[in-house]
Amino acid sequence: MIHEADDPTTDMLSMVAAASRLLHEEQPLVQRIHRLFGLLRLATRYRDGRLTCWLQSARPGATRQQIYSPESWAYPWDDRLTRSVALGGKTITKTIALGSQQPAEGLPIISAGYLGAPIFWGGRLWGILELRSDDQGRFTSRIIELIDSLKAQLAAAIAQEGSRGAQLPAPRFASETPPGLTLSPSLRQKIIALNEQLDLTIDLHELLGIILRRALEGSGAEAGAIALVDHEQRELVLQLYEGYEAERANAALTGMPRQRWHWDTGLAGQAVRMRRPLLVRDAGREPGLPNSLPFRAELAAPIIVHDRALAVLILHSRRANTFSEQVLAFIDALRERVARPLARATSYQSAYETSYHLGQVFSSLPIGLALLDLNGRVIRANPTWHQVWRLPDRLQRPSFYVGIDLVEHLLTRLADPFRLSEFCDLGQRTPDQVFETSLQLRQPYQELHILSVPTRDSQQQLTGRLWVVSDRTRERESERLKDEFIGIVSHELRTPLTSILGYTEILLNRRDLDEASQNEFLTTVSKEAERLEKLVKDLLDVSRLEAGVVKLNRWAVGLWQIIEELTMQLHTQLVQHKLLINVDPALPPVFADRDKVKQIIFNLLSNAIKYSPEKTEIQLTIRCVEATDLPPGHPVGQWMLITVRDQGIGIAPEDQARLFERFQRVDNSNTRQKSGVGLGLYITRLLVELHGGRIWVQSEVGKGSSFSFTLPLWTALRNELGTDENADGG
Ligand code: ADP
Repeated sequence: MIHEADDPTTDMLSMVAAASRLLHEEQPLVQRIHRLFGLLRLATRYRDGRLTCWLQSARPGATRQQIYSPESWAYPWDDRLTRSVALGGKTITKTIALGSQQPAEGLPIISAGYLGAPIFWGGRLWGILELRSDDQGRFTSRIIELIDSLKAQLAAAIAQEGSRGAQLPAPRFASETPPGLTLSPSLRQKIIALNEQLDLTIDLHELLGIILRRALEGSGAEAGAIALVDHEQRELVLQLYEGYEAERANAALTGMPRQRWHWDTGLAGQAVRMRRPLLVRDAGREPGLPNSLPFRAELAAPIIVHDRALAVLILHSRRANTFSEQVLAFIDALRERVARPLARATSYQSAYETSYHLGQVFSSLPIGLALLDLNGRVIRANPTWHQVWRLPDRLQRPSFYVGIDLVEHLLTRLADPFRLSEFCDLGQRTPDQVFETSLQLRQPYQELHILSVPTRDSQQQLTGRLWVVSDRTRERESERLKDEFIGIVSHELRTPLTSILGYTEILLNRRDLDEASQNEFLTTVSKEAERLEKLVKDLLDVSRLEAGVVKLNRWAVGLWQIIEELTMQLHTQLVQHKLLINVDPALPPVFADRDKVKQIIFNLLSNAIKYSPEKTEIQLTIRCVEATDLPPGHPVGQWMLITVRDQGIGIAPEDQARLFERFQRVDNSNTRQKSGVGLGLYITRLLVELHGGRIWVQSEVGKGSSFSFTLPLWTALRNELGTDENADGG
């Protein structure tokens, strides 16, 4: 004989009795339904449930409300299924597939049991009660009977709630108010204590710390984290964590980018997307969760403001079922209480981040920037501002007025001191106008451009000015060089042309000239034509070298023959000087373009002749050298070193480096007498560098100069290529 208490029918009947009692109690509908879910769990051990109902308010139309069971699953509900249940009009059970076909959703596909019960009464649909379980056989006919027997009372409860009038409670998610539970006095005390702290801070990180610590204390979780939601990137951004192992802490070291993860992964992401808390009571029993998880229970609770998840609180425990209904109620009260302070703090923080970001841009711009107040006082300036004015440390103080301090600082250097004071005055007298000016400074020469624009606050009220200062010295310098070049070149073109025209005219008109004079005139004409030809050739060379179209025709080149040819060529110029040639007869060949090497040595010898007095000595030395004989920074290996030394006028140290730039000449009484445009050494350097070598000068004014350059050896290249072709020995 079966004992009465064991009879399942009696069980079910007492369940029906309990359910109808609680549905008739004086409590908000949400709480009654939550308690009903609690009862149903005993009978059905379902996984999660929801009641969708239509509350007939005093206003026309019905308000749909969804009440979820407190313990929820991460899988979204399928509204199409709900609609089909509503249309079908009968309670159904079936096996359904949960999860997503898209791997990004992060939920495995599992099959689940589903029960859908439409609540019809009096020819009207009041709601739909749905349950889901991970065991498909859970929803037996007895369960269907139980649920069907509650339909009338459910309809009555929904109707009664609707008739309470226009003051409907806003739809709430299930876990915001767990079934029929109020907070225990100790937990309520924690929320009250929190109130005071929350109003004291606007600092986001302090606030997040408070929230996380309170959540850990109140929930009994051993570890927890809090992440902000980046809606644009659809990512969660970890802000704070507590209680995790060292490796997690190390991964989030200061100075590293914040840890982020897509909201499609993990329970927290799910909770954020669904805007409701999600709970895993026991990860060990969860299908689709790996066994290796470092926790058993997980709770993810989003903090919602204006229907948007702002942050998510994640709590972990090593013990299964840590998070009781009391804990859920506490976390709900907590997230509701912190929502507004958190919204305030995040908007404050985002404004702060924006200004911090702009501050970084401001500091790193390579133009001088300063914000002035309406009195012309510098409120904020970037490092370039101090550099551009060459302000000493003592003048980089907060109370620096451009109209007084800047003018005074620059007074001795300003070419036109009134221009700057006038500019400052103008800015103050007409604060809403844009102005610009250029200043020229002496010692060292600087040309600065200032743009001064009015600044306004967010209410469009004038706040002062922004000064944008750029150093135009280099641009002006290159413009100056260009003008100078045009001057030099036109002079260099005009001088020989004038003499050619003059002499040819004499030769044509004066038939009575003696032969000696005729010869002299013709020689001059020929020399001047040569000078013109050289100038045109140099200009063409420069433009081709700079355009990168000059290709070297490199092979093994012996230098002896080149020297012989050059001495022949320079024969007439060299009669006034002594040329000493110091070359080892057994010189190895270089790997070079023969014509270019000849041009290089020719240029250096011509300069030596040009810039040294008659009867002095010019020495040409060629030898193989090792890296140790070369100047610092020279490429390593074996090189040929060619040096042209003279006993001429010499070059001052400050002029030496720039001579290898274009149009650079030393300007003194000695050089002014010599024609030239300052292209020879520039072309020479480009040709040497095209071969991989370097050129440099050592010189002393009045004693002489020595120009040296290097060329790669043919053997060095052959070793590199591993070939042994024959040199031409040329
Ligand atoms: P150019 O001789 O046509 O002016 P270069 O480029 O050949 O142009 O030389 C640039 C300047 O370098 C010369 O104007 C001269 O002032 C100086 N210079 C070149 N070679 C010598 C030298 N051997 N001794 C003294 N000064 C030299």
